[in-house]
Amino acid sequence: MTPEQPKSRRDIFDKCAKFTAAHAAMAAGFYPYFHVIESGQDPEVMVEGRKMIMVGSNNYLGLTSHPKLKEAAIQATRTFGVGCVGSRFLNGTLSLHIELEERLAKLVRKEAALVFATGMQTNLGVISSLVGKDDHIITDKYDHASIIDGCRLSYGAMKRYRHNDMADLERVLRTTDHGGGMLIAVDGVFSMEGDICDLPAIVTLARRYGARVLVDDAHGIGVLGSRGAGVADHFGLDDDVDLIVGTFSKSFASVGGFVAADEAVIHYMKHFARAMIFSASLPPANAASVLAALDIIENEPERRARLVEVGEKMRGGLRALGYDTGESTTPIIPVLVGDDLTARALWRNLYDRGIFTTPIMTPAVPENRALIRVSCMATLTDEQVQRVLDAFAAAGREMGLIGGGKA
Ligand code: PMP
Repeated sequence: MTPEQPKSRRDIFDKCAKFTAAHAAMAAGFYPYFHVIESGQDPEVMVEGRKMIMVGSNNYLGLTSHPKLKEAAIQATRTFGVGCVGSRFLNGTLSLHIELEERLAKLVRKEAALVFATGMQTNLGVISSLVGKDDHIITDKYDHASIIDGCRLSYGAMKRYRHNDMADLERVLRTTDHGGGMLIAVDGVFSMEGDICDLPAIVTLARRYGARVLVDDAHGIGVLGSRGAGVADHFGLDDDVDLIVGTFSKSFASVGGFVAADEAVIHYMKHFARAMIFSASLPPANAASVLAALDIIENEPERRARLVEVGEKMRGGLRALGYDTGESTTPIIPVLVGDDLTARALWRNLYDRGIFTTPIMTPAVPENRALIRVSCMATLTDEQVQRVLDAFAAAGREMGLIGGGKA
């Protein structure tokens, strides 16, 4: 029903009718979103009736179909049911959540941890509960949207520094000289570009200027470090990071998120993080499968080693073909192509060759920094990696993006 509107008032739905870009892309066959997957997220997936190689997933350790995770989810469902139907705060705390929090705190070497229903909610809850009206939150320009939205929800003022530019971070810290507190919030591994934050410099600057540090290690946990505990572990700086945020939607192969910190900080957030208090808790199956993933992360370092090997083969192959893979040193490999149209066209070309990638375009990346995001899984075989490289070679030559190099 369309309500009668006074002439002076705009209908809030006007923008919906005017939004035609996605329909135009669909009609042209260049719409890369919401494609339907009809199988598990293994290296080979069924997409709209066709077998494809998946290099567009965050299933870094390849655990989504692991029998131990599946069994843990089934057993937990048998014992606890399918949902918690309430907040952690009230009726939604299970013994499984407590066990998970203790294990996670141990992994990242913090006193305590708190589990949220998603990684997004974790950043919203953590940042908005800690950063008050006289405080500042300082972020890297390439930080994930959940950090940005956490800043928007907080009453503090937000300042940004140029991506991984420590001189610029210092400039921001120096010019934010006031009585309030400061929190630097940074992605451990940048989700689109696959580069690692300069944590040694960040913690040094934080100490010098009296700021606290939050590392969102969504893409680092399970992937980096001798214990698989992420970027802080990778640099040996576990004690220097004040808040470690993680999500279960990548290496842990599930959904959910957590923050780990000193006991007093976690205790405070348990009573002030609205994204946790006013939302239902992580379902039993998820909590149990994350516990099973933790067992694997702790006991099977060979999975991380294989992931590094796959990442190096993929990155090396793409570079040998003549592609620009930016500053990536992780299993997330950006193939930088420039404008959005080229990214869409390369995505489509690869899609037609049976390769599932994700194009990343404005506003998710700056103007003319559109890219194809290739993310590797430990379970990709060498033969599958080669098939991906062969498709990039053929597509790139057909589109005139690369010369005749061989991967
Ligand atoms: N932080 C980062 C860096 C991410 O990349 C993501 C998800 N892509 C999130 C947080 C949000 O995690 P979730 O999917 O668990 O909401």
